[in-house]
Amino acid sequence: MWRIKEMKHITVKSVLNKKKVHDSWFLDEYTLNPYSACSFNCLFCYTQGSKYGNNMEDKVSVKTNALEVLEKQLALRAKKKQYGFIVLASATDPYLHFEKDTLLTRGMLELIHKYRFPVHMLTRSDMIQRDFDLLHRINRDSCSPSYLEGRLQDKVLVTFSFSTIEQKVADIFEPGATKIANRIDTMKASLKEGFRTGISLMPLLPFISDTKEQLHNTFALFRETGVQYVLPSTLTLFGNERGDSKWLMYRAIEKHYPQLLEKYKTWFDHSDYMPAFYHQAFMKKFEELCKKYGVKGRIV
Ligand code: SF4
Repeated sequence: MWRIKEMKHITVKSVLNKKKVHDSWFLDEYTLNPYSACSFNCLFCYTQGSKYGNNMEDKVSVKTNALEVLEKQLALRAKKKQYGFIVLASATDPYLHFEKDTLLTRGMLELIHKYRFPVHMLTRSDMIQRDFDLLHRINRDSCSPSYLEGRLQDKVLVTFSFSTIEQKVADIFEPGATKIANRIDTMKASLKEGFRTGISLMPLLPFISDTKEQLHNTFALFRETGVQYVLPSTLTLFGNERGDSKWLMYRAIEKHYPQLLEKYKTWFDHSDYMPAFYHQAFMKKFEELCKKYGVKGRIV
C-alpha cells in the first residue's frame, strides 16, 4: 500500500495509450500517466477544469495497479516489436511531490527498461535527477523506433517545461512546479549527464512572457545553458466554468495584470485558442530567435 493515506487510489484497465500517429514535435507514439490529475496546479493547464476542480492537489489519484497493467501492455507491444517513444507524462507531471513515496514513475521506468522502449520525459520538476541512473540504462539498452531510424540515436529525451523564466510570474501561473533556478540547474545536470535535453515553452503567456525583452532573455539563457532544442507552444484555454483553465487565468490576469484582461477576453471569450494572426507571428518570431541564438526549434 502507498504510504500517503490521504491520496486517492484508483485502478485502471489501461495505462499505456497508443497514439494514432506519432507526434512530430515530441516524437512519441505512446503516452503514459502515473497519476490522474496534477498537484502542480498550473492555471493554464488543460487538465484544470470541472472534471478535477481548481485545487487539483486534493484530487490527485494514484493508479495503484498501474505497474501490473503497464507490464502486460509493454510485454505485448514488445512481442510485436512496436517500439516507439513513450511520453511520461502528458496529463500530469511524472514527478509530483507524492512520487517520493509512491515511486510509481520509477517503477514505470524500470519496466520501460525491461521491455527496451525509448522514453521522452516531460517535466517541470527537479526530482527527475533521482532517476538519472535508470535513464542511462534505458539510453544504453532500448530499441530505436523504426520511424526515427537513422535520424536519432538517443533512447532518452528530457524536456523541461517553462511558461516563463521569471520566478515572480511562475509563482502566479505554475505555483506547484519546481522553482525556475532549480529547474535550470536540473536542466544543466541533465545535459552534463549526456541526455538529449531541451525545453518546451509550454505555453508562452501573451504579453507576459512573450514580450520582445522576455523572449530575448529566455533564448539568451537557453543558449548559455547549451540546451539542444526548444519546442514552442501558444496558449490554449478551455472551459467557462468555475475552476476551468479559462476562468482561473481570467482571475489571475485581473488580479496581477488588470491592463491585459480586456485583451485576454477578446481572444478567449469566443475561442479556446489564440487568433491565427498571433500564431503566425509567434512562429515567425520563434524561427528568427532560434536562428539568432543558434538553438534548434525541433528535436530532429
Ligand atoms: S505540470 Fe503539466 S500537467 Fe501538471 S498542472 Fe502543470 S501543465 Fe498541467
